[in-house]
Amino acid sequence: MRSFIPLNLIFLLILNSGCQKNKREETNKIEPLYKESKRVLKKNEILQNAFHDIIDDAEITEKIIRLLQKCDFPFRRCLPGDSIIVLRENNLFKKLTYFQNPMAVYHIINDKGFLSLSMKYPYITRMTVVLSGSINSTLYESMLKRGETPMLVYKFADIFAWEIDFATETQNGDSFFVVFDKVFCDSQFVDYSNIVLVRYKGKIGDYHGIYFKDPSGYDDYYNLKGESLRKALLKSPLRYSSISSYFSKRRFHPILKIWRPHHGLDYSAPAGTPVSSIGDGVVTFKGWKGGYGNLVEIKHKNNFKSRYGHLSRFAKGLFLGKHVKMGELIGYVGSTGLSTGPHLHFELHKNGIPINPLTVKLPRAPSVEKKYFKQFEQKRDSLLAFLNNASGQDAPFCQ
Ligand SMILES: [Zn+2]
Repeated sequence: MRSFIPLNLIFLLILNSGCQKNKREETNKIEPLYKESKRVLKKNEILQNAFHDIIDDAEITEKIIRLLQKCDFPFRRCLPGDSIIVLRENNLFKKLTYFQNPMAVYHIINDKGFLSLSMKYPYITRMTVVLSGSINSTLYESMLKRGETPMLVYKFADIFAWEIDFATETQNGDSFFVVFDKVFCDSQFVDYSNIVLVRYKGKIGDYHGIYFKDPSGYDDYYNLKGESLRKALLKSPLRYSSISSYFSKRRFHPILKIWRPHHGLDYSAPAGTPVSSIGDGVVTFKGWKGGYGNLVEIKHKNNFKSRYGHLSRFAKGLFLGKHVKMGELIGYVGSTGLSTGPHLHFELHKNGIPINPLTVKLPRAPSVEKKYFKQFEQKRDSLLAFLNNASGQDAPFCQ
């Protein structure tokens, strides 16, 4: 599958900049001195400020901005991460190149006091790739050995995050398959997209992930039966942490010095570690609650409720009744309330009763809707046929 946006040099506009303050002296036979500086557009930064910063000449910057405005430059399309390169010749502004995300490239050239603007759309090409291989050490190394970048490994692992723990559950000899697009910008690889099929086959089982977007626009990865690969709730509200105290009916309380039940999990983590909601839901409590200290309580679907205690502070903008998304920041680890040191006290309730988050069977995100199941089956079967054909070949291939 290939698609091009074959457009090149579009327009040229010349303004008299009158910016040659100093008549350049005739520097006979002395090579001009070029200096290049580069910076990227930061988050929440407006282009004008970035230009001022890198050009360091208010007059030139103003002229460039006016030129861009005159040419209907799409300021709104600027994104954090866009890069700006400025070239100086003998310390005078010579050229500015702006890579807009990176689907367009703008050049502003100073030619003896005249500023001109040109724009170029790079060639965007896509290539569908079937990558397969077997694990020799880790999934990460095996994929990188086949010439792919860590980005693909993370995307692959993310899709299976609910089913497979790639840190502990993979074994040598396991195999993986991925069907995806590689996006090139002027023959330079820029991104992966359209991961339509993933498969992991090993001792732990044979897992498939099929990307399906139903006619209403809802999309997800599903197993062969059309069940979502995602669960409705995350296993943990913290990314990296260890459990320091388990769910128990009887635990000796370190401060109260009495035996009493511990209806949750304690995660040891440094103060300030971000805590996120384990699922979509509504904030039903936010504030101080006795021994819990700063507590957030979130009500989820299927009569689940989660609680996060001892927080040092709450996330900005969190309020009672707020609808939060799975993984959304709700607060930070602390040691408020009855606590001996920074940790998160995490509780999960089902039908009002505390349950052990480690042993509960979590509900899945919605399956493919019945009325769209036929379409899902068609997509699934064609992808599987494609994969089977491709896997019959010796090496990963491109088409
Ligand atoms: Zn606790």
